[in-house]
Amino acid sequence: SLDFAAKLAKRLGVKVREDVVHAVDGVNLSVRKGEVVGLVGESGCGKSTLGRMVAGIMPPTDGTVLWHGRDLKALSGAEARQAKLRTQMIFQDPYASLNPRLKVAEIVGEAPAFHGLVGRGGLDDYVDEQLRRAGLDPALKRRYPHQFSGGQRQRIGIARALAVQPDFLVCDEAVAALDVSIQAQILNLFMKLRRELDLTYLFISHDLGVVEHLSDRVVIMYLGRVVEEAPAEEVFARPNHPYTRALLAEVPRIEARKRAFAGVKGEIPSPLNPPPGCHFHPRCPHAFDRCRVERPALREIAPGHRSACHLNDAA
Ligand code: SF4
Repeated sequence: SLDFAAKLAKRLGVKVREDVVHAVDGVNLSVRKGEVVGLVGESGCGKSTLGRMVAGIMPPTDGTVLWHGRDLKALSGAEARQAKLRTQMIFQDPYASLNPRLKVAEIVGEAPAFHGLVGRGGLDDYVDEQLRRAGLDPALKRRYPHQFSGGQRQRIGIARALAVQPDFLVCDEAVAALDVSIQAQILNLFMKLRRELDLTYLFISHDLGVVEHLSDRVVIMYLGRVVEEAPAEEVFARPNHPYTRALLAEVPRIEARKRAFAGVKGEIPSPLNPPPGCHFHPRCPHAFDRCRVERPALREIAPGHRSACHLNDAA
């Protein structure tokens, strides 16, 4: 993460000016009500930073985050609290965000009681309802987080998020730490909740395979920039950007694509010193002179399909 890079640089005695680190650079992302947007890229591409900004946890140094069309920064105290409650974040490691000294009932019931979403008298039933929704047996609510498996702990995290009645969930690598079979269960749970509660999702993952069946729209990020954005079917049927095509080659189930592309070669460069021009050029098999000096604009190449690659200019 950017934090980690900054700390490492400090430890090594390297001076880093904050203003030269652009974890997210010129990104314009919109998520419409009821939509599931998959945000994909390798670790270090800025997708988590973007997710935190969207969730209102981290303010952007430049630019704005609009919530129902209004600037988050300009909201009054009560409105800002409302926006914060309505947008909940689900993290990769629920254990790190669950207080180990609290029982599950307290973890799930704390915020709705504090915010007055439910009276003390009804809290017990309310907690049971959230646990059931998240697929957990309410009989287990007197237990502590360490008494649960990874998948169950993620369900506790989801129950806690649901308890404040959100309409927007930002899921940051929410299934990355789980076994594949448990991943599928949690992904199904997200989809069930979408139908039941009319939820909107920003689903952040390094794995295109994870977002494939979940997303209405997919946004691909590389080193702080959006390189491609399209309806999900379009991204998988007609990927345009060389980076997207290389990422798709790594989705193991898609044999034909695997033959056509060799995957993403090399490491993602440091966001402290991104390559000029198209950030992807050192790893791109199609790079030419212009790519090394000029940033490609994100252009519409088909209705709702945008890509940032100079190759599209020649087409
Ligand atoms: Fe590759 Fe050039 Fe397109 Fe970047 S702009 S993806 S380097 S061909």
